[in-house]
Amino acid sequence: MTLQTIHTPSYVVDEELLIKNLEILKHVMDETGCRILLAQKCFSMFSVYPLIGNYLNGTTASGLFEAKLGKEHMGGETHVYAAAFREDEIDEILEVCDHIVFNSFSQWERFKEKALKSGKECGLRINPQCSTQEGHEIYDPCAPFSRMGITKEQFREELLEGISGLHFHTLCEQNSDALVTTLEAFEEQFGPYLYQMKWVNFGGGHHITRDDYDRDTLIKTIKQIREKYEVEVYLEPGEAVALNAGTLVSTVLDIVHNGMDIAILDTSAACHMPDVLEMPYRPPIIGGKLPGENPYTYRLAGPTCLSGDVIGDYSFEKPLQVGDRVIFCDMAIYSMVKNNTFNGMNLPHIAWKEKNKDSITIIKEFGYMDFKNRLS
Ligand SMILES: *Cc1c(COP(=O)(O)O)cnc(C)c1O
Repeated sequence: MTLQTIHTPSYVVDEELLIKNLEILKHVMDETGCRILLAQKCFSMFSVYPLIGNYLNGTTASGLFEAKLGKEHMGGETHVYAAAFREDEIDEILEVCDHIVFNSFSQWERFKEKALKSGKECGLRINPQCSTQEGHEIYDPCAPFSRMGITKEQFREELLEGISGLHFHTLCEQNSDALVTTLEAFEEQFGPYLYQMKWVNFGGGHHITRDDYDRDTLIKTIKQIREKYEVEVYLEPGEAVALNAGTLVSTVLDIVHNGMDIAILDTSAACHMPDVLEMPYRPPIIGGKLPGENPYTYRLAGPTCLSGDVIGDYSFEKPLQVGDRVIFCDMAIYSMVKNNTFNGMNLPHIAWKEKNKDSITIIKEFGYMDFKNRLS
């Protein structure tokens, strides 16, 4: 199978592109001695966890289910952070995870006895209240009234006994200059406590595998922190692991006209690429440009009954025809982990393109029962 013949819609993840990212991350690990984990909330294609585990130190999770998946399929270190842990899950979380990061001192006090008895590493998420991003507030943990992490004002030095690490996560698709700015704020407020810690976790949002990412600054910064405080440094990127490593292949089902040409695809923004609507953002398309740049402009839209199920306006060199393929790029991340079956839409198949092979293999197919099983 090829991109031109595969069932649509399908997510197709490319081994060669994934390895390219993993090698960059490995280079950062080798240069600095830091440890890097896959943030599974971004990319949970567990069939490739063994490959990722050859490069990275393990996984991080947003709760029990992701933690179990990471432990089962990648192994290595299993970390977990949640805004709040549930009483009825904490025993299993402590069994599965090596590092548990609490979001507040009240959560820490609630679970401290159990956590310390389990012998696992316990950490606290800090909120350095240093926003370095503009535009999408829903992705800014340092935005006003954020529930993510402990602020300086809420910090309680007297409760640190048993805590072996501090964690912050404040970035989203950012370069290393934003990390430097964040670390200045972090050190100013929490630096003194870091001397008594074993580790510090810089969270995710580091766009390390993007072409223009300044990796020298990242490497220098990690080394400085490791030496100054004598701590292990963890990074837990999601996006950087699978950035630009996969596509979503779709087919044109119909073309209608209402003030402009509108192509209805067999993939949906609402169901299969919700970040296009939530973030929002415009995914690149192979052969598609900005409206008007090529002679034929179309609005690309999904087949659901949500009027706003629109991916965006794109222009093409030739007119689109029913049956043509439209291939969306950078669709490995925050796609299959977020998709849904609204309108009874099927989920895209998940496929894998092996390195040095032309053909693509479908790893998982979905159907009616996947829709039905989530309902009653
Ligand atoms: C989302 C998240 C990550 C991964 O972020 P990316 O932007 O995908 O790199 C890591 N850690 C925490 C705590 C997160 O919430």
